[in-house]
Amino acid sequence: MDKKSIKYDFTIIGGGLIGTLVSILLSRNGFKCCLIERNSCEEINNLKKFSPLSLNYRSILILKKFSLWNEEYISAAPITGLIMKCFNSLNRLQFSSSDIDLEYLGYVVNKFSLQKYFINAANKQEGLDIVDNSSVVEIKQKINQTSYVIRTSSEKPKSIQSEFVILSDGEPSSLKDKLEFKTHYHHHNQTSYLVDCGGSFEVGVAAQLFNEDGIFALVPYSTTKTSLILTLNDDRKDKYINKNNKVNIDQIQKVYSNYLKNIKTVKITGSYQLKSSKSDAIIRNNVLLLGNTSQLLHPVGAQGFNLGIRNIETIINQLDRKQILKRRDISESMKEIVDIINHDRQDVLQMTDVAIKFFANSKSASRIISSFMINFLKISQKSKHKFLKKILGLDNCSYLTIKG
Ligand SMILES: Cc1cc2nc3c(=O)[nH]c(=O)nc-3n(C[C@H](O)[C@H](O)[C@H](O)COP(=O)(O)OP(=O)(O)OC[C@H]3O[C@@H](n4cnc5c(N)ncnc54)[C@H](O)[C@@H]3O)c2cc1C
Repeated sequence: MDKKSIKYDFTIIGGGLIGTLVSILLSRNGFKCCLIERNSCEEINNLKKFSPLSLNYRSILILKKFSLWNEEYISAAPITGLIMKCFNSLNRLQFSSSDIDLEYLGYVVNKFSLQKYFINAANKQEGLDIVDNSSVVEIKQKINQTSYVIRTSSEKPKSIQSEFVILSDGEPSSLKDKLEFKTHYHHHNQTSYLVDCGGSFEVGVAAQLFNEDGIFALVPYSTTKTSLILTLNDDRKDKYINKNNKVNIDQIQKVYSNYLKNIKTVKITGSYQLKSSKSDAIIRNNVLLLGNTSQLLHPVGAQGFNLGIRNIETIINQLDRKQILKRRDISESMKEIVDIINHDRQDVLQMTDVAIKFFANSKSASRIISSFMINFLKISQKSKHKFLKKILGLDNCSYLTIKG
């Protein structure tokens, strides 16, 4: 196919989980799409290590609805229980999927297996052209027109024409800066360590423990293996990670004492300095920001990808090509899409802020408020269920009715 002569409806820049998923679904809806990824899709396909990603119940529902959930290919384990402990055992909350009559709360998946599954689906998708090994260097609006010319730098540089652009190139995004989207950054003075280990724990029960040193998550992904996500305050991290970048197992054992025993084969699989970001706007002319390009969330609520999936569902729900051909153009629908995305985004950002300000803060005022909140949730089953549904993305979820 001579891509030079094609004018795409959508060009999606960045083939991470978000870019790949939205490309598949827009193409399925009949739009001509081009997905551009700077790395080789084959290389992404060969990544073997386990990288945990928590998908909430809503995300699984959405993937199932779009027939993009298959446990034969996606390495995934259900989570049926969740424990939250703030500083001491009195401030401990326990949730179970049976509390709200669900089979599970969500799944922990290997991010790379999900990425591989999406790339394979994208490769088979009609109406979707994939250009990998190509980095986009410029997005230019045509003079007196709404459409764009997208230039890539690669062995064979390309120039691609498109009506709309979805920018899902992650964070940082120099393209977003060039298009004059303003981004606000927040540095948390914390470092997150992803740790893989074996041990004994309650299968399918995740935990998130807050103390004065940071936030400690336990996310079991098999009957004997779990991921630990240590989000350590920078002035406390030497207590847990030594100079040779090895985990202090005794210290870890202390923190996780009630939830993880017989720790073995401990391995740090990744670490990063924590920074969150938020773009002022998510659309300019016909360029829409999606996923990490639009906001990078603190991992405390594990909501980043979940929010992205929800935003994609909004786009697909609003953009039905047949409807659009009948009554209005894509730009008209984009206004509604942006309103809904902004609303959901605000909601999740607020929830994450509350978790950081109250649950993860050791100042006495925050500890009093978090203790009050936890005790209130313990007493009121109705509020507890409401809180749980919010975490799972099930508040205002019109296509699902659950008891609670
Ligand atoms: C350690 C960690 C744990 C997380 N845990 C969770 C969790 O439990 N639950 C959850 O919901 N979320 C979680 N998240 C967030 C989640 O991983 C992301 O929201 C999700 O992966 C979506 O990312 P993305 O596709 O928006 O961006 P990215 O994954 O960053 O993808 C961007 C893509 O764009 C490509 N690209 C960049 N520049 C260009 C260019 N100029 N031209 C072409 N291509 C380009 C890159 O190569 C990359 O493939 C976690 C994130 C991290 C880092």
